[in-house]
Amino acid sequence: MSSITQGSYPPVLQDAERERLVQVVKDWTVAHGLTVRPPPAIAGNDTEGILATSAPVTLFPSPFPKSCFEEAKAIQTTYNELYALISRDEEFLTEMVKEVAGGDEFIANLWNVHLRVKKEGYVQNLALGLFRSDYMVHQDDASLQIKQVEFNTIASSFGGLSTQTSLLHKHLAQHEYPLLSSSASATNLDLPSNDSAAGLAAGLRAAFDAYGPSTFGHPTCVLFLTQSGERNVFDQRHLEYALSSSGSSQVPVFRLPFSEILTHTTISSTPERQLLYTLPSNPSLIYEVAVVYLRAGYGPGDYVSNQDWEARYQIERSNAICCPTVLTQLAGMKKVQQVLATPEESNTNSVPSALAKFMSPTSSKTQQLLKTFTNIYPLDTSASGQHARSLATSATECQKYVMKPQREGGGNNFYRSSIPEQLKKIPEEHWNSFILMEIIEPPALTNSILRNGNVEQGGVICELGVYGTCLWDQKTGEVKHNEEAGYLLRTKGDKSEEGGVAAGYGCMDSVALV
Ligand code: ADP
Ligand code: MG
Repeated sequence: MSSITQGSYPPVLQDAERERLVQVVKDWTVAHGLTVRPPPAIAGNDTEGILATSAPVTLFPSPFPKSCFEEAKAIQTTYNELYALISRDEEFLTEMVKEVAGGDEFIANLWNVHLRVKKEGYVQNLALGLFRSDYMVHQDDASLQIKQVEFNTIASSFGGLSTQTSLLHKHLAQHEYPLLSSSASATNLDLPSNDSAAGLAAGLRAAFDAYGPSTFGHPTCVLFLTQSGERNVFDQRHLEYALSSSGSSQVPVFRLPFSEILTHTTISSTPERQLLYTLPSNPSLIYEVAVVYLRAGYGPGDYVSNQDWEARYQIERSNAICCPTVLTQLAGMKKVQQVLATPEESNTNSVPSALAKFMSPTSSKTQQLLKTFTNIYPLDTSASGQHARSLATSATECQKYVMKPQREGGGNNFYRSSIPEQLKKIPEEHWNSFILMEIIEPPALTNSILRNGNVEQGGVICELGVYGTCLWDQKTGEVKHNEEAGYLLRTKGDKSEEGGVAAGYGCMDSVALV
């Protein structure tokens, strides 16, 4: 394994070797569903929607420090616990929303959904989180440390494709790398197993089982809320297939576009407000929805009209277990991440009081969490915010930072020199709806990315995501299920700021532990 660190990994490919590897990857990915719907430029006029193509993927697993990988996996259940606690703290979230809602109508609208349901009373106390905590490796002198990029509480994607990517690289390590002329560094790779699809499905299963049987005698089901025209559909299908065949009994799973919630679901006029789903293809079949899993609804694009907000309200006020609830979605705001990480102005060595609110400041778990934080600042009028404003508006200082709004799904951030320009366009009273974060600069690596049939070779940056599943009671705080659920490695060219695979910036990868 030491060969990986000696600069000879990944092996240099002869043209014919590259061609062979690409052919194998093309076929394996399609044969095993490591696929996406093709982008419009490639799909042409695929009006029947029959085309699928390989998801962008690296030809070799990227080296990743074993200690960092293990640390990220080990801390996940603590992160699950922390975000369950935050989701339950309405007072804290009220403060967070207040900070940003003035300049952020989307957050204000989400909050309003919660307030409406709170007024009539929630009927379902259980909440499900399928989380993903994202990290990059930070090199500090001699030591390597994972630093958190963000914590996702809604629509954490790629758990389905990630299991397949680990299997692809295992296949290549076994059957292909040994055939390379300079194969020495690519034999005997340490490739850990990755049960992200099964792990996420187990979280959904736990919620489904906890819901119990229908009081009406309907069959119960899990409903995936999706975006129309979703290209990453096979990732979601892998979870569906893992879920429907998990456990001792079958779980009916249905996909419903977010925009069709009000057309195909109703709420029973009982005090329990069961959510009923009528199968569009056979309206005589009615299911009681035990779990709603949102792979949509995380950004303003899904809320075109007021009806879409009514649809979200319908889900939230129903008896279905939501993954996530509005409060859990809001717990994933970048503002929350910032507040947890910003130390008190009076004592920069103390545990930030927001974190101490949820976790004992002296516990080893809290110390482990703290180690994963990097510097994040508010852009408000506090002393820390004023300091951040001076950094963000300085032509030299801004080069070390990324500015983020309260958005998910990629393509929303401002990097380095674009920060001062962007701030000029935003009224100063709305600056506090953004946070300013130090850019993490991981050690330089190289790899080859196969994307849309072309191989891009060069410097890459890797981002590790660790999945976690948590089912808890909002009222009592009882945690019924809390598991680490596999990992994702996403890799992007080192010239690209954004890393989203679905957004077209990054690609699927897996770790070769070093
Ligand atoms: P989103 O919610 O849109 O996914 P992220 O906070 O994950 O927003 O940022 C998108 C991408 O930008 C990340 O996947 C990562 O590649 C890059 N990025 C974000 N924050 C940092 C950071 N502090 N250091 C380095 N890269 C970052
Ligand atoms: Mg992200």
